[in-house]
Amino acid sequence: MTQASPDFYDEGTLVAVLTAQPLEGPLDYLAPEGGVMAGAFVEVPLGPRRVLGVVWGPGRGGFDLKKARGIGRVLDVAPMRVEMQEFLRRAGEYTLTPLPAMLRLATRAPGLSDPPSMQKIYRLGDTEPARLTDARARVLEVLRDHGGLGFTLKEVSDLAGVTSSVVKGLVAQGAVLEEDTPRDTPFVPLDPDLPAKALTEDQAAAAARLRMGLQAGSYGTTLLRGVTGSGKTEVYLEAVAEALRQGGQALVLLPEIALTAEFLTRVEVRFGTRPAEWHSGVTMTERRRVWKMVGQGGAQMVVGARSALFLPFQNLALIVVDEEHDTSYKQEDGALYHARDMAVLRASLCGARVVLASATPSLESWANAEAGKYERLDLDARFGAAVMPELAAIDMRAETLPSNRWISPTLQAAVNARVAAGEQALLFLNRRGYAPTTICRACGHQIGCDHCDARMVEHRFQKRLICHQCGESTAMPEACPACGVAGKLAAVGPGVERLAEEAAALFPQARIAVLSSDLFGSARALKEQIVEIAQGAADIIIGTQLVAKGHNFPLLTLVGVIDSDLGLQGSDLRAAERTFQLMRQVAGRAGRAERAGRALLQTFQPEHPVIRAILAGDEEGFWRAEAEGRRQAGVPPYGRMAGIILSSPDMQAVFDLGEALARRDGPIRAVGAQVFGPAPAPIARIRGRHRVRLLVKAPKGAAIQAAVSEWIAQVRLPAQMRLTVDIDPQSF
Ligand code: ADP
Ligand code: ZN
Repeated sequence: MTQASPDFYDEGTLVAVLTAQPLEGPLDYLAPEGGVMAGAFVEVPLGPRRVLGVVWGPGRGGFDLKKARGIGRVLDVAPMRVEMQEFLRRAGEYTLTPLPAMLRLATRAPGLSDPPSMQKIYRLGDTEPARLTDARARVLEVLRDHGGLGFTLKEVSDLAGVTSSVVKGLVAQGAVLEEDTPRDTPFVPLDPDLPAKALTEDQAAAAARLRMGLQAGSYGTTLLRGVTGSGKTEVYLEAVAEALRQGGQALVLLPEIALTAEFLTRVEVRFGTRPAEWHSGVTMTERRRVWKMVGQGGAQMVVGARSALFLPFQNLALIVVDEEHDTSYKQEDGALYHARDMAVLRASLCGARVVLASATPSLESWANAEAGKYERLDLDARFGAAVMPELAAIDMRAETLPSNRWISPTLQAAVNARVAAGEQALLFLNRRGYAPTTICRACGHQIGCDHCDARMVEHRFQKRLICHQCGESTAMPEACPACGVAGKLAAVGPGVERLAEEAAALFPQARIAVLSSDLFGSARALKEQIVEIAQGAADIIIGTQLVAKGHNFPLLTLVGVIDSDLGLQGSDLRAAERTFQLMRQVAGRAGRAERAGRALLQTFQPEHPVIRAILAGDEEGFWRAEAEGRRQAGVPPYGRMAGIILSSPDMQAVFDLGEALARRDGPIRAVGAQVFGPAPAPIARIRGRHRVRLLVKAPKGAAIQAAVSEWIAQVRLPAQMRLTVDIDPQSF
């Protein structure tokens, strides 16, 4: 029997405090003067240090109370809710991540324990200004309408569309008050009742279903599937509006920071002001403010990256996972969690709704909808005059190309026609850099990374060789590092930079823009470039995966996929799903506005089933075939998998330990599962560490986490050995 935990502990009571330090679990401390709330954020002494922690529950005791240390300070932030504690516990159990590491995810706000610094806030005063100009009237109107909380100088002048001197002038006359307030101020409230766009019949029906779900007030997940441009965003913004009307908080996850700029503008148009932002591009001060305001209810809506799932929402009503199939939702470092799964877990614990939006859902979500676990809503038509692009293959076996050229004559002619018509063409190649391989024509040596099992990729703009695994980079050498012969290094194969060179030669009159994440110093520079391109600043866009993700380019009417076969190589069982999604996403970039679009896929195997399914636009058929294949192989989502990665600088040691584990597979077999490996991991060496992987394949209902914990607990890790468990690995 466990006792219901009290929500307040009197001074001197023993309480368990969880910290993010790598310890076994919570430690006991005495509640401070005045007592402490369950879930309170506190500072506790740990050895010579003071660390941040959370009051996790009653203390366990069992030691001399005189030796107990006291809680140092209770922080002035909202206590962690019980459901958040439960979320961290369950997420940790699911991913086999220790609780302290989970807590670290939930306390990522910088300067959480610092006292707030001050800033000036502006409110309505009670004197009338002597002379009421238009500009002054606008300022007063903004403050009267929704200035209850006060605004910063920048906010009020932006909202009123005046310079800051207008506001200052009003302060001088006492018509506006200037007050010193802690910097952690609430966000300007969003207004869900501003007029929304008139929705089409399909959109309105989908929005109504989502609203009904929210009104039910209990957990539920909806897969919102709709072709690119069908208005999924418009529809889920109406779900956000409903959440806001109920006084609930909404979280929208986007897979890519570069997408936020456009999205924030849309939110501002719909709700009158911008929501809070949470991702690596947000300043430290702002992140601290967001964290605190989410906890106090002073932020109604957050737009962010996957880590926003760990913000301390008080009243979370809705989580949207946009582009839910995107692979970047899987955290591949530290706690290995998938944001889509964690969103569903979090929502189920607090009775919130989840909307998974995508034009090309993951097979997992598709299968969950088939099984009736998720509701499924479809938007099949593009909004307005926009129609789905027409898709065709270019059979590369029938094209004549000089060596080191990748744009076929057929594609070249199509691009010329579009550019001549004042439209945009996109050439898509999912390879950063100039060329994937650099080979010495004197000795045949291929330049590889010294620390990884990977080739060094030439980046010609930067004149460097870069390892895409570990980031190691060296100046482009003159001579071969193996044989020393100079002037014989040759680029083999295409990257986007090389494609840009080819395009410049083929289309001398066109303005060409290259969009690849590594070519931009900052997220901001990239955002600006995207906005300029959308406005027509380029005729030909050359891009990597980055452009496949949700950007709106209204003038774009032709997409040419340089190498459609690229993703189909290799042994990854998800290759077909990935290629299908990526090709459809890329093709979906064409013809978003009034103009019809076309996508041309260069391929050497036009009869490949995946390529045929893409061309035929046969989504359901593709999914059914793919699902059947996975079912027969017993792999996710029809079976369970876990990866164990062992890594060490000592190659022999990793293989020895891998084999020792494979031999002691009793706990795995006990749940009807099997161990495969050890085999070299998908990347066999990173940063000088050799990596081997063991794969556990289990039937759907198996208690895989418990079995894996018991299994790995049998071996001791030698010095320098690291063991990582990856539940539901993305490649298998
Ligand atoms: P998706 O998220 O499915 O790609 P969006 O919501 O981005 O689609 O819609 C595509 C474009 O069409 C956007 O520019 C959007 O503003 C516009 N749009 C969609 N539905 C409507 C509507 N009902 N009224 C006006 N514009 C709309
Ligand atoms: Zn490397």
